[in-house]
Amino acid sequence: MTNRALFLDRDGTLVLPRHYPTRPEQLVLYADLGAPLAQLQAAGWRIIVITNQAGLAHGYFDEAALVQMHTHLATQLLQVGVHLDAIYHCPHHPAGRVPAVAIECACRKPQPGLLLQAAADHMLDLERSWFVGDILHDVEAGNRAGCRTVLVNNGGETEWVTGPYRTPDFVAADTVAALHIILQHERLAPPGSVELAAEITKIGSER
Ligand SMILES: [Mg+2]
Ligand SMILES: [Zn+2]
Repeated sequence: MTNRALFLDRDGTLVLPRHYPTRPEQLVLYADLGAPLAQLQAAGWRIIVITNQAGLAHGYFDEAALVQMHTHLATQLLQVGVHLDAIYHCPHHPAGRVPAVAIECACRKPQPGLLLQAAADHMLDLERSWFVGDILHDVEAGNRAGCRTVLVNNGGETEWVTGPYRTPDFVAADTVAALHIILQHERLAPPGSVELAAEITKIGSER
C-alpha cells in the first residue's frame, strides 16, 4: 500500500448538482478545479471519483449512457490539466426497478465498499488519502474507509443526520476551498498564507 488518493464525490462536488443527469453535457465541471487538482496529482495523489448512481437501478439511464457521461467528465478534466485515474460507481438501490441492481449492497455510500475496492485496485494507503464530498454520506464513507475527510458545505446536505463516522475533519465552503485545505495540510501550499484560510473551519475528528 504505497499510493495516496484524492477521492472525490461527483455530483455537487466535482460537477454542478443536477437531478439525475442522463446526458454527457449535463455534467458541468465546477470552475477553477484544474490547478489544485493538477497540483495534487503532480505530488503523487491518484484522482479517483466515487459516486452513487442509483439512476441505474431506477432505470433512468443505462451503463452505456454512464460511460458516455464519464468520458465527457474525463475530457473536461483533461482540458484543465487533470488525468482522472478512475471512476467507481455504485449502480444499486434497494427500491430500484432493474432487478439485477435493485439490491442492498456494500458499495452504496455511506458504505465504504467503493473506496475499499479502489484501494485494492490502486494499492492505496487509505489513511494517507482524502475524501471530498458534499453530503454527510460522503463523509461517513470516507471515515469508515479510514480516510481524512472534507465536507463541501455548499447546500448539498439538507438533513444533517449525525452519527458515528459523520463528522468531517474539515468543512469548506466550496470544492476549490476544500482542495486548498488539503494542499495546505499536505504542505503543498504555505500554511495560512492564502486568503481561503479564513474559510477553514476545523470541526474536529473522530479518530
Ligand atoms: Mg454529491
Ligand atoms: Zn452498490
